[in-house]
Amino acid sequence: MSVVVVGAGIAGLACARALTEAGVAVRVVERGKVCGGRLATKRYNNRRTDIGAAYFTAQDEAFTSLVTKWQSQGLVREWTDTLTVLDPDGTHRTTGPMRWAAPNGLRSLAENLAEGLDITTGHTVEWIEPGPRVDGVNATAVVLAMPGPQALRVLHPSLTSARTAVEAQHWLPTLAVTLTYPARTWPDFNGAFVNDHPILQTVFDDGARRGDNAPVLVAHTTPSFTEHYVADPSVADHEVEAAVRQVLDLTDKATSTHVHRWTYASPTKPGTSPFHLDDQHIGIAGDAWGYPRTETAWLSGTALGNALAAQLT
Ligand SMILES: Cc1cc2nc3c(=O)[nH]c(=O)nc-3n(C[C@H](O)[C@H](O)[C@H](O)COP(=O)(O)OP(=O)(O)OC[C@H]3O[C@@H](n4cnc5c(N)ncnc54)[C@H](O)[C@@H]3O)c2cc1C
Repeated sequence: MSVVVVGAGIAGLACARALTEAGVAVRVVERGKVCGGRLATKRYNNRRTDIGAAYFTAQDEAFTSLVTKWQSQGLVREWTDTLTVLDPDGTHRTTGPMRWAAPNGLRSLAENLAEGLDITTGHTVEWIEPGPRVDGVNATAVVLAMPGPQALRVLHPSLTSARTAVEAQHWLPTLAVTLTYPARTWPDFNGAFVNDHPILQTVFDDGARRGDNAPVLVAHTTPSFTEHYVADPSVADHEVEAAVRQVLDLTDKATSTHVHRWTYASPTKPGTSPFHLDDQHIGIAGDAWGYPRTETAWLSGTALGNALAAQLT
């Protein structure tokens, strides 16, 4: 028997790595065709575009040391500490922590973490029962590394401790709209937080962050705009394209657009504990267990993996 980790986003992969390093047998099951979850890189027009996380930051010592290793392997690079704020009252720059980007797209980091692990992709787990049992098969323990509403779909009603742990989570959706232009005609802005806009939340220069200077922007939409298009996101592209043209003062129209829906993009309330683990051997990890960002997901998965390994060995 082994621990089953459901979800091969960065939290699930970090958890599986921590368990493997402690000598615990672990199997990862992912419903997508590839690993990464919201560390998502899609190929459009024969080029990779980051359509999930826009970048990541690193503050924790252990995560920073992983990032330094990725940097030495050429997987990540320091992108910028300065982004733009587009406000109805004017435009200004804002400086914060270093934002890291991946030349091959952020999903390449998930691929790196996945190396050597036992992972089944393209398989949706349907049911976790007491035992614990995953789709009828016994496991030593089960880790759900995913947004709370996705975990609730598979947790048996009698797994009350785990269900209670995620029931209070509230998540917001977004659309990621990739816009490809004939040429780069915008001033250097890296990425922008768009304040008080009915459609746009952020716009990122994917060519700048990836480092190939491709004329590609990725816009993320506000939750209220997204809710109108949840049923058929593909038709949202015209409004988003026009909004980006207006806020960046572009004359060119995008020559191609691609829309991706994130039903659970971001949790609204930062969790106060790093993970959930109960005496029914159900663990839950992800970016809802702290301030919602990539680093939190990695820390949550790693901490849960270590705690579970300590219990099992
Ligand atoms: C649009 C957007 C912008 C973002 N921007 C930033 C940013 O700028 N900086 C930053 O740090 N973070 C950002 N984030 C957040 C970051 O992407 C997440 O914090 C991180 O990727 C979460 O990882 P995770 O492993 O917790 O969850 P996920 O990546 O969501 O992984 C969950 C996995 O579980 C799988 N799964 C779910 N249900 C099942 C099932 N039943 N069976 C099998 N598999 C299942 C899913 O397919 C998925 O792969 C952004 C996210 C989005 C969506």
